[in-house]
Amino acid sequence: MKRYSAFAVAREALTGHRGWERAWRRAQPKARYDVIIVGAGGHGLATAYYLGKRFGITNVAVLEKGWLGGGNTGRNTTIIRSNYLQDPSAAIYEKSRALYETLSQELNYNVMFSPRGVLMLAQTEHEVRGYRRTAHANALQGVDTRFITPAEVKKIVPIIRLEGPRYPVLGALWQARGGTARHDAVAWGYARACSAMGMDIIQQCEVTGIRRDGGRVTGVDTTKGAIDCDKLGLVVAGHSGVLAEMAGFRLPIESVALQALVSEPIKPVMDCVVMANTVHGYMSQSDKGEMVIGGGADGYNNYTQRGSFHHVEETVRALIETFPMLSRLKMLRWWGGIVDMTGDRSPILSKTPLDGCFVNCGWGTGGFKAIPGSGWGFAELMAKGHAPLTEAFTLDRFREGRFIDESVAAGVAH
Ligand SMILES: Cc1cc2nc3c(=O)[nH]c(=O)nc-3n(C[C@H](O)[C@H](O)[C@H](O)COP(=O)(O)OP(=O)(O)OC[C@H]3O[C@@H](n4cnc5c(N)ncnc54)[C@H](O)[C@@H]3O)c2cc1C
Repeated sequence: MKRYSAFAVAREALTGHRGWERAWRRAQPKARYDVIIVGAGGHGLATAYYLGKRFGITNVAVLEKGWLGGGNTGRNTTIIRSNYLQDPSAAIYEKSRALYETLSQELNYNVMFSPRGVLMLAQTEHEVRGYRRTAHANALQGVDTRFITPAEVKKIVPIIRLEGPRYPVLGALWQARGGTARHDAVAWGYARACSAMGMDIIQQCEVTGIRRDGGRVTGVDTTKGAIDCDKLGLVVAGHSGVLAEMAGFRLPIESVALQALVSEPIKPVMDCVVMANTVHGYMSQSDKGEMVIGGGADGYNNYTQRGSFHHVEETVRALIETFPMLSRLKMLRWWGGIVDMTGDRSPILSKTPLDGCFVNCGWGTGGFKAIPGSGWGFAELMAKGHAPLTEAFTLDRFREGRFIDESVAAGVAH
């Protein structure tokens, strides 16, 4: 793989851009791999990358039924933060945030990580107490957050109206090194690095069955034929229940559509991410100038990867209370992705009842930020059978009642 650099850009500019290579090889499936990962979203690709990078396992295929990054990874609003309440969550999200800091250099691919700061507004007394508690927990966990006053909020976000008609801003949880990254670039960067290690990323290859011998996985059936493997990782977000059924077990997961939208582009007005969990909306400004807006998940289970008009109306109406300037903007487009929700709003990174088969899912509305950390931990789990970062996130916790409850602290957990 040729490295990207300022010199390469200059050289190509002078020679008509004819020397660029494909970012990743177009691969066809081999008969057998040591590891197959199902799902070429961020989590699947990061898992493959760290399997190679950390454990030297490179006889790996990543199978994708559509196109690489075309699931939730390419549909999210790109918020990165690690201000979670429970210790295991703070550990994996903070590991992830820290990996994001140097991911562009590590992958030699600009993922446009922008640590512009994330504000979570407290608009009720209950939220004030909750976020103060999170700030104290974060201090113990080594996560750098702080509860700030309304005056400080106004200084960071001048366009905000502190005295909303229903919910005045009473303060905020502030994580200065949270922010955003370019979602497609994260998937593309990992894919390019995996391909460079000799791994096969096979698009348009849907897994239609999981082969077993007794209690052990032996391979998968796909639309491109059967493929054998020693180990199998299911990393398919909203389709995890479907794959689990193929493997013969059930997951405590619900699949629902989560929607987002963008406005027309405007000049820079806001250089941080703001989340308003009481009114249920959040917003940042993209590098192109669009206001990137997200709201809540659909109230019913479904597999429709679409946006809907009433969601646009509800979310924008809610945000206008705190950001009146939004009422003057045209909304350009909206979309949806199928997110995988667990009861405690924490992920599952676990062995499964089928030997050799592992599952990484349940990231729900907030897994983009976790991609590097999840890949780091899940690769270790698949390679060694255990990993410190993932050990609290097993399937057993639902049977044993060891929930990692992030539903309150994380609020709208994007
Ligand atoms: C609107 C929206 C906003 C969001 N905002 C944020 C945010 O701001 N911050 C944040 O941290 N998170 C956010 N999220 C959540 C985040 O996007 C996801 O948690 C994360 O992208 C999940 O990544 P993944 O790799 O697990 O799944 P995906 O990216 O969905 O990848 C799974 C892949 O598996 C493939 N697949 C499924 N079935 C099969 C099969 N049978 N065979 C082969 N391949 C298959 C799919 O095609 C898909 O490409 C948001 C999500 C949405 C939808």
